[in-house]
Amino acid sequence: MDDPYVHIPVSTQGTVTGVDGAGNVMCVWDCGSSLSLAYDADRAHKIGTEDEAKVTLDRYGTKQPEKDCRCPRCGDMMWGPKARYALSRYAAITVCDRCGREEALECAGLTAARPLMKWCAIVLPSVGSGAWMR
Ligand SMILES: [Zn+2]
Repeated sequence: MDDPYVHIPVSTQGTVTGVDGAGNVMCVWDCGSSLSLAYDADRAHKIGTEDEAKVTLDRYGTKQPEKDCRCPRCGDMMWGPKARYALSRYAAITVCDRCGREEALECAGLTAARPLMKWCAIVLPSVGSGAWMR
């Protein structure tokens, strides 16, 4: 969103409350703002399905900090360079070692998979004060 008075950080999530007469999407953002999405000017997408959550996580992956960031799956801190952690098997993003092991067990069919909709970055996007993306 490009508003001269209100800054809504990239990756902010919110809840749609309606559409006004001009076609703007009215939202309550998790950051507390109620700035509407301007039709044909702002960009947003819905996260209501596993496929939509994957799109979000893939996008987070392109902006994931190179060091000292939170695991998008569990929310734990990953200290140091992200290159020493695990690449997720479900989205193009780095996860902590524990989540990497859990994903390996899930993909081997030994444990039930955690739905992407339950990942910390999707459920609690404000955790880490925007550490999901920079
Ligand atoms: Zn984790």
